Amino acid sequence: MNHFDYKEGQFHCEDVPLARIAEEVGTPFYCYSHATLLRHFTVFDQAFREVPHLVCFAVKANSNLAVIRIFAKAGGGADIVSGGELYRAQKAGVPANKTVFAGVGKTHTEIEDALKAGILMFNVESSQELLLIDLVAGKLGVKAPVALRVNPDVDPQTHPYISTGLKQSKFGISIEGALEEYKNASKLPNIEIVGMHKHIGSQITLVSPFADALEKTLELVVALRDEGINISYVDIGGGLGITYNDEAPPHPDELAKAIVPMLKETGCTIVFEPGRVLVGNAGALVTRALFTKTNADKTFIIVDAAMNDLARPSLYGSYQHIVPLLQEAAKRKKTTADVVGPICESGDFLAKGRVLPEFYPDELMAVMSAGAYGFTMSSNYNSRPRVPEVLVHGATYDVIRKRETVQDLVRGEIIPAYLE
Ligand SMILES: *Cc1c(COP(=O)(O)O)cnc(C)c1O
Repeated sequence: MNHFDYKEGQFHCEDVPLARIAEEVGTPFYCYSHATLLRHFTVFDQAFREVPHLVCFAVKANSNLAVIRIFAKAGGGADIVSGGELYRAQKAGVPANKTVFAGVGKTHTEIEDALKAGILMFNVESSQELLLIDLVAGKLGVKAPVALRVNPDVDPQTHPYISTGLKQSKFGISIEGALEEYKNASKLPNIEIVGMHKHIGSQITLVSPFADALEKTLELVVALRDEGINISYVDIGGGLGITYNDEAPPHPDELAKAIVPMLKETGCTIVFEPGRVLVGNAGALVTRALFTKTNADKTFIIVDAAMNDLARPSLYGSYQHIVPLLQEAAKRKKTTADVVGPICESGDFLAKGRVLPEFYPDELMAVMSAGAYGFTMSSNYNSRPRVPEVLVHGATYDVIRKRETVQDLVRGEIIPAYLE
């Protein structure tokens, strides 16, 4: 459920027509709905009310301070994967003791900063990382709280780029070796074992991979207890999928129904790391048609947003629904078209072979389901300033990130004196 819909012929986010924002801030821009973000958080949080838990929003899905803040105010925490995300989470007011830190390549500085901040736990992905955390904690004279990220070797049945829990992936510690690794960790002087972590992938549309991975992980929790290692947190990661086109992912309630009995048995506090499911359908990218043209027998709608603004179609071949902001436009003659941006790459498209009504130059459209891995994956390729982000709240909106300028593009660049 989201708060994007037609009202009186105009496509709205909550009570604001997107065309009005386009007029005032220009195009392209990302638009998020406050009501949808909060609703998605609440539905997810409520689904797991029967177990003590903490919902740590996966910051990489949408890193805007205002978005992180919405979830923090609702009682959520943050799942971070870099020092930059630690900085953002802190700046947005996420309590450090609700922050968990994953990632296969944490640096000395990142570990030090996270220890100083006092995060809830590191989700550790290798033996060498464990040794480095022990070393840094020792220097600071603190004990580092850790969970080991276990790789349960379960196929999440999603796009290969976002499958992370198969044994050939770079993530986590193999389930077979995990018990040994825990025993090693328990001997390190500056390490405190507090939890277990898994995250098997993203855009998962079935319950079974979650249940299978959890079952394997929980066997290990029991084995740990037999070894006298008692953990307080089981972090089951994120990965719940959303509807982009015709996918029918489980509702959080359905997922809860399947796994809450297992989670209860652990007696632990359960950490969740949802990203996409909280923000994906709470955001749209609004773009303007520039031209339409036909080459050979292919029709192209050229728009002012491109793969640098929204990488998912190019990167994963993913589907993003496209709607005209003017409802009347839907009644026009339909054509099959590629919606493409101005970038000098044939991989630059937002939609391929899509049946769409004709668009006239300057007409607006919304690329839906763009709230997750949209702005955060955007770049300046082709020296295109990054677009603004807007947050709608009822009948008003705020620009929560300004459009970059051409000066922003060259900030920090230096021409050496000998070239002058
Ligand atoms: C990316 C990621 C998530 C969030 O995944 P979603 O599919 O967006 O829910 C959670 N945990 C970790 C460790 C991640 O890398």
